[in-house]
Amino acid sequence: MDFEIPARVKPLVSRLRAFVQEELFPLEPAFLNSEFVDLLPHLAEVRARVRTAGLWAPHLPESYGGLGLSLHEFAYVSEELGRSPLGHYALNCQPPDIANMELLLRYGTEEQKQRFLEPLARGEIRSCFAMTEPEYPGSNPVMMGASAQKEGDDYVINAHKWFTTGADGAAFTILMAITNPEVAQRHQRASLILVPLDSPGYRRIRNISIMGETGSDYASHAEVAFENVYVPQSYRLGPEGEGFRLAQERLGPGRIHHCMRWIGICERAIDLTCRRAATRQLSSSAYLADQQAIQHWLAESRASVDAARLLVLHAAWKIDQEGAAAARVEISTIKFYVAGVLQSVVDRAIQVHGALGMTDDTPLAHWYRHERAARIYDGPDEVHKWVVARQMLEPYRVKE
Ligand SMILES: Cc1cc2nc3c(=O)[nH]c(=O)nc-3n(C[C@H](O)[C@H](O)[C@H](O)COP(=O)(O)OP(=O)(O)OC[C@H]3O[C@@H](n4cnc5c(N)ncnc54)[C@H](O)[C@@H]3O)c2cc1C
Repeated sequence: MDFEIPARVKPLVSRLRAFVQEELFPLEPAFLNSEFVDLLPHLAEVRARVRTAGLWAPHLPESYGGLGLSLHEFAYVSEELGRSPLGHYALNCQPPDIANMELLLRYGTEEQKQRFLEPLARGEIRSCFAMTEPEYPGSNPVMMGASAQKEGDDYVINAHKWFTTGADGAAFTILMAITNPEVAQRHQRASLILVPLDSPGYRRIRNISIMGETGSDYASHAEVAFENVYVPQSYRLGPEGEGFRLAQERLGPGRIHHCMRWIGICERAIDLTCRRAATRQLSSSAYLADQQAIQHWLAESRASVDAARLLVLHAAWKIDQEGAAAARVEISTIKFYVAGVLQSVVDRAIQVHGALGMTDDTPLAHWYRHERAARIYDGPDEVHKWVVARQMLEPYRVKE
């Protein structure tokens, strides 16, 4: 086992640490206290500097203007970027675009790549992923109301979706809809379809308020409707009836991205906690850092974050070696474990900051509000624990 950061990414990781600190930390007060859309001009300048510096789109192959990193290599980059809420956006590797790019790279036709992937890779447009519906359980998405019926060379789409992250201002979505209702196997009824969001019949109903914030542009989660939307059948992504398989494939690497971003958040929370504890005087002779309770919290955070990182790097390595399907249990393990670590580390950091922790003078409260969802999106904790326990119990089950 080699615990070193791979030689190819080591210099990149140090450059990114400096970049995030120098370029992104100063933008955070504006991000935390205004709408994302207000920040776009500043972020456009930062993104231009990112390109000039040769840091753009680390996950993409060089032929698409990226750095061509493997998933395991990208994991280290994602941790560095996660230290700021603006990190991934600055390098054009933010969710949900990053996972959409990966899916288009793998399954897109030449026409689809030209029309959707190329401008996305250049950062000229954004995209979203519309699977979850208000009327059906997102944790069991074979239950789905969205339909795409063939008419001539087109699909006619009718769907009601919500929690479509980044839909506000996105140019297209990858939509999951039932194309083959006649198939007996429920998980082989749906397909993924690329839908331009300027199509007649598409409507963004609202940006959903989450933990008191409605959000805008990239930082939105929208409820959307598709009423008799026509798209060419050539916009279907991947084979017909394989929507769930592709969505799972999309979510595998996507969970590595999320988990490493969460570890970056944890590292920043630990950094802020140490700074605060070492400088906040409790009395003429004692600092917060002198209190055993605070020392224990720090040690517990350190141990759980380091354990989480090793789990995620192992899962990323396994996906690189054997593919996402073979790493299903590892992926489920990190998804619930790291989401839990994130929540407790940020919570402890807020406690150490006292009233300051409740303000938007640090990013802690933002993460506390927004990352509570980590235990729900891309599959709730309970579903991932079920996947892990099912595999553990399998050899012990009574065979009838
Ligand atoms: C911030 C945020 C962003 C999101 N972004 C997107 C996006 O971009 N695109 C998209 O399509 N979706 C998105 N989602 C939706 C997300 O994937 C779903 O919320 C998730 O899959 C859970 O589905 P649900 O909300 O319908 O919960 P339900 O399926 O109704 O489940 C509710 C609860 O029931 C429990 N539960 C479910 N199944 C089991 C089980 N088998 N055993 C025990 N308990 C169980 C869990 O505690 C779960 O939280 C996002 C959600 C959030 C919060």
